[in-house]
Amino acid sequence: MAVFLLHSNRCFIENKFQEATLYIKGHRIHRIFDGKKHIDDVPFTSYGDFIIMPGVIDAHVHINEPGRTNWEGFDTATRAAATGGITTLIEMPLNASPVTTTIDAFKKKKEATKGKLHVNCGFYGGIVPLNVNEIEPLIKFGAFGIKGFLSHSGIDEFPKIDAEHLRMVAPILKKYSVPLLLHCELEDDEVPKIKNPKSYQEYLSSRPQRWENTAIDIALEIQTTFDIKVHIVHLSSSEAIEKLAYRKSKTNKLTIETCPHYLFFDAEQIPDASPILKCAPPIREKENREALWKAVKETIIDFIASDHSPAPPEIKQLDSGDFFKAWGGISGLQFTLSVMNTEFKSRDIPLEKLIPMLTQKPAEFLGLESRKGLLKKGYDADIVIWDDTAENVLTPEVICHKHKATPYLGHKLKGMVTDTFVNGFHVVELSRIVDRNRGELLERNGIGENEKDYLKKVI
Ligand SMILES: [Zn+2]
Repeated sequence: MAVFLLHSNRCFIENKFQEATLYIKGHRIHRIFDGKKHIDDVPFTSYGDFIIMPGVIDAHVHINEPGRTNWEGFDTATRAAATGGITTLIEMPLNASPVTTTIDAFKKKKEATKGKLHVNCGFYGGIVPLNVNEIEPLIKFGAFGIKGFLSHSGIDEFPKIDAEHLRMVAPILKKYSVPLLLHCELEDDEVPKIKNPKSYQEYLSSRPQRWENTAIDIALEIQTTFDIKVHIVHLSSSEAIEKLAYRKSKTNKLTIETCPHYLFFDAEQIPDASPILKCAPPIREKENREALWKAVKETIIDFIASDHSPAPPEIKQLDSGDFFKAWGGISGLQFTLSVMNTEFKSRDIPLEKLIPMLTQKPAEFLGLESRKGLLKKGYDADIVIWDDTAENVLTPEVICHKHKATPYLGHKLKGMVTDTFVNGFHVVELSRIVDRNRGELLERNGIGENEKDYLKKVI
């Protein structure tokens, strides 16, 4: 069993930076000492002023394997995750093929991860119109939540649902205390006709805030009626914040995420013919972005997730510049920590605010809070070490995603991950992958077999 000591002047423990030494034994944080501590025969490394904090937990990632592995796969995605300081990610029930809406598909998905998990990985199941009977088995098989779309998902085999389907599935979700994740856009016909498909303004007008707001009304109604956990994925509409905040003041069963791209970019900066920045809901105006920031500061938004949704350059229509034909999704898994550090610093918001939004909060949402998301005695040794002051212009050679196309390319980003530990294994050293396959398949609430195997291994 590997045993070693990690020291820094800036360990993020109990919500503040302090000098400490972590004593790692096997897969776990065995003890934490104040200040600098040496133990005979135990290797000791000091990282000086670099931050030591819990690994980032990304609760919203699309990996596309099996079936669309030419878009992204477990090997490349989890390599990118580790390099970016992410130690746990949860994968969405689309855009792989088959989509994760049946047990059979869920088995194929788990099968597809073999030998390719460089960080810990769990899964959501999906709700589509004809699979209500599959929801309970998906939960029992370890799904961290059940995701549905109230508008076209972009993938024909993952059709949208309506409020009636949600009412059918709500009692099952309640029984297991598993969250319903909703893509909140509700299409209507009152959008302008397309004249110039390369115009960002036209794309933005084609998916108005109204679509998000009306879908969020359905989400709130289901949450209130059934008293179930509801999670709003990738919030973009600032107009919905007030009603979400009101409902959050009444219940702890409503959670909200937003994504780095909604906080980093705004519509005014997006040139025409640049579908690299197409996503749904769309990146909106500067004023909207500022309102999202206010919601971050006021803790109305619970956490930040990448919504990494890559596609090959031809499917992103990078040559044609056609927003309406392009795949809607932003590729950015590897850069959440540096993009958010860049923005938080430029806005003078302390890292004490950011770090829990990338670690503790998603751990709580996923039911992993008793073992992940904090530097704490007995917790999993999922750890990232990074220099929050290093500044680099993002160049293609550092990108580990399957495709290099990302809207962050060429941007000056602050923050460089030097080392990542996954389950106590030193997976990234000097910003390079040095060990592989140390990630673990995770299942919600330890319902599945893997949790028992895991406990056998570490106790
Ligand atoms: Zn997504």
